[in-house]
Amino acid sequence: MLPVLLADKAFSRYYNRKYLNRMRGGMVAAILLFGLFGLLEVLTLPPAVYHQTLLVRLAVVLPVLLAVWAATYRPYLFGHMQKVLGTAAFLVLNGVVLILWLARREGASLPYEGILLATLFVYLLLGLRLIGALVCGWASCIAYILMERHVGLEGDALLYNAMFLISANIIGSVGAYFSDAVSLENYKAEQALQQLAERDFLTGLYNRRVMQERASDVFAQAKREQRSVAVALMDVDFFKRYNDLYGHGEGDEVLRRVAASIQASARRPLDFTARYGGEEFVGVWYDLSAADGRERVEEICRCVRELGIAHRGSSAAEVVTLSAGVVSCEPGETFDLQQCLQRADAALYQAKAQGRDRVVPSWTLGAGAT
Ligand code: GH3
Ligand code: MG
Ligand code: MG
Repeated sequence: MLPVLLADKAFSRYYNRKYLNRMRGGMVAAILLFGLFGLLEVLTLPPAVYHQTLLVRLAVVLPVLLAVWAATYRPYLFGHMQKVLGTAAFLVLNGVVLILWLARREGASLPYEGILLATLFVYLLLGLRLIGALVCGWASCIAYILMERHVGLEGDALLYNAMFLISANIIGSVGAYFSDAVSLENYKAEQALQQLAERDFLTGLYNRRVMQERASDVFAQAKREQRSVAVALMDVDFFKRYNDLYGHGEGDEVLRRVAASIQASARRPLDFTARYGGEEFVGVWYDLSAADGRERVEEICRCVRELGIAHRGSSAAEVVTLSAGVVSCEPGETFDLQQCLQRADAALYQAKAQGRDRVVPSWTLGAGAT
């Protein structure tokens, strides 16, 4: 029960996206039904009564339903849809109680079943998550019972009405619970699939395919905004020897720990890191100057060194180290990840040639190499 009630914000966003059409359709159905019942009131109730009930329908219920319907077309509100729906459900359910009270007060016989319909609608059709539906459903149930007592309904009549409304709330709660539970399961399955499709299973970094996709977005934005992009290619030193000395399993653990240090360097939304292959990693940082790009990669190499993972087979240090080539790419004719990686690769080659455990910026190489 608890996980369904308390699922996080990301689930709410998924839920809102998934049920947007249901919310929209639900609003259209609700507007039509409220209109039809309003018409029925005009045909069956004395004018003194339907003038008041219509006022509630037109001044409270209809604007609320229209506002929710309009909100489903406003992308900036999608993240807040549960609050919008919850407020609307609360107002509409209590609006129905108000309509019943106005009729009762004038002695008109308006059937109470409207509140039953509205309650089931809120639980099952609105696209409101369980927690919101529970609050609105049970609050209006209490409001209804208090209202009927206030206008003098008692005995068996009150008992039956209360029992039917409580039953509607129980049916709605159970139905909404199972519907939310299925949504939560689907959400988790989709998350897991996405993780499998996008992430390298060993390190959790983006895989090469997603790297290409993300890079094309980052470079397109950098081109539009005339910003530079810093790119680094990083490679674990003497890793073959590490595997030979300590075993493949230990080698995997090293890759995981190195990847975690690399991932921590991508701090802003457009920055990202990826496993390029084997023991090679890529870092992409949006709008980072050449000097800052170099500093960022130096920092990663320092972190990896400070992990202090002993490496007897390394001729560069006593611990596992990285070599890296870094490049700062400015928007120009050929401005994409591929071209940046070629230059970073040439710089990485130099870092290896100069003794490993170091960062070589591509701009320090000769013109031919950069
Ligand atoms: P250099 O300093 O020149 O980079 O030498 P190196 O030994 O690191 O480079 P080399 O390309 O010769 O060897 C890379 C090694 O990385 C070989 C391969 O077995 C190992 N490797 C690649 N992927 C994995 C992996 O997923 N897990 C483990 N444990 N090892 C891997
Ligand atoms: Mg390599
Ligand atoms: Mg290597």
